[in-house]
Amino acid sequence: MSSSKSSIPWFDDFLGVAYRYYDLRMNVVPLFTERKESVTLWNDTIHWWVDPSIKIRFVETGDDYWFILGSDSQKPATNLSFFKVLPKSEHYERFKKGHGGEAYLRLGVYQQQTLDDAKKSAMCACNHEAQDHDEGDGDVCLYNDCDCKKFTSFQVNLSKRKKTISDIKFLDEKDVKDDPLTWNCLNVNKYSKQN
Ligand SMILES: [Zn+2]
Ligand SMILES: [Zn+2]
Repeated sequence: MSSSKSSIPWFDDFLGVAYRYYDLRMNVVPLFTERKESVTLWNDTIHWWVDPSIKIRFVETGDDYWFILGSDSQKPATNLSFFKVLPKSEHYERFKKGHGGEAYLRLGVYQQQTLDDAKKSAMCACNHEAQDHDEGDGDVCLYNDCDCKKFTSFQVNLSKRKKTISDIKFLDEKDVKDDPLTWNCLNVNKYSKQN
């Protein structure tokens, strides 16, 4: 069964990736806005992945990095490989240092929270808590030196279903030729679009 990697379509229609500790292990969590979309993607594609063949690759380019995720599938007809170009973040750096060679893959649904939904201790984008925002006055932040006018926060709901990833690599762009998944991703999604 030699599946030609190049025939697997690349998918980047998701919001980003969260890195979270959950069940005592780092979780890599592609993020979606709609629960339905994440469930469909899990059922059609990720459910069929063969755990030991799941690969994640990271390639840093300046302040950004390429997130690349793919696997052999028991149902190749609906298989997809994922990629996304993302800004480096604290969570990414923490994952890079702390993953220990293994991680769980889950899907996440990113939900914007209103001041009404949020717990008092939920953090606003202005770095002050929900309880420091005035529910009576358009949600403005009550700190004098803060010009936040509206509470904005989000939570990520993680799927219970998970896959185990044990093939995790951080690659330099000059070395990607030796890694078929990464090489194919950059060829299709980067080099063929530059000119
Ligand atoms: Zn605020
Ligand atoms: Zn504030």
